[in-house]
Amino acid sequence: MEVILAEHAGFCWGVKRAIEMATEAREKAGTDVYVLGHLVHNEEVVRDLESNGINVVEDMDQVPPGSVLLITAHGLDYKIIQQATDRGFQVIDTTCPIVQNVHKFTRRFLDEGREIVIIGHSDHIEVKGISGVTDGRAQIVGDISELGQLRIAPDAHVGVVAQTTFNQNEMHQLVEALEQRSPDILFKVKDSICYDVKDKQHEIRELARKVDAVVVVGSRTSSNTNRLFEIASEICGRTLFVSKVDELDPESFQGVASVCVTAGASTPDWIIEKVVAFLRDLDGTK
Ligand code: SF4
Repeated sequence: MEVILAEHAGFCWGVKRAIEMATEAREKAGTDVYVLGHLVHNEEVVRDLESNGINVVEDMDQVPPGSVLLITAHGLDYKIIQQATDRGFQVIDTTCPIVQNVHKFTRRFLDEGREIVIIGHSDHIEVKGISGVTDGRAQIVGDISELGQLRIAPDAHVGVVAQTTFNQNEMHQLVEALEQRSPDILFKVKDSICYDVKDKQHEIRELARKVDAVVVVGSRTSSNTNRLFEIASEICGRTLFVSKVDELDPESFQGVASVCVTAGASTPDWIIEKVVAFLRDLDGTK
């Protein structure tokens, strides 16, 4: 069986940066440090960080006074960050600069007097952080079925931004649908999907056409990994989503001559390598 590892599989720059910042903060502090939520969306990475004294908390009340408190790579509502600073924590913000840029574009649109529409998933922490820039005034749309809920005045000026991990094709479809629904409104659109996410999506669209099976490796909590699974599933009927190698069943690869492995931006190399080794060992091919 031919096993193809996608070139862009695995850690992105923003995830590597967040982990490096957290590790450095722990070393400098010489004691445990805390993260408000999961630093990145991968349980194995979070477990590894916790074993090194970088602990997840859900609430600031769980953090000893004066401790180092890290903000995750996906960002957070600026008011919560301000609150942490006001309470005397040593705040280290690992928000990816690409997410910070989305905050900047949103602020710029607000300064231009525009209403904000966020294309993204309303329950995702990054979208909550972007919405926080607008003090909750932004309207959020995650798919075509939600378009009907938007309330936009006919004379409004609208700025549209996207969650960095959104499906790029779906973003374009949503923008088109928005423009068709309100032809008199001039929408200013910032395609703020991350370049690493676009590369991964583009790559899997190409590869999924050429193989008999696709394995997407990552956490169910990872937005960009879920998007990769959705895209690959639409193209290749035999697409599997696993968080680690133990979830793979050799039976799933009966009759498969070629398989492609891709992985989300928060999936570490060692997990990907084990999946690839498992597949290559299935019939002794390399
Ligand atoms: S996927 Fe993109 S936006 Fe998200 S952390 Fe990685 S580099 Fe930053």
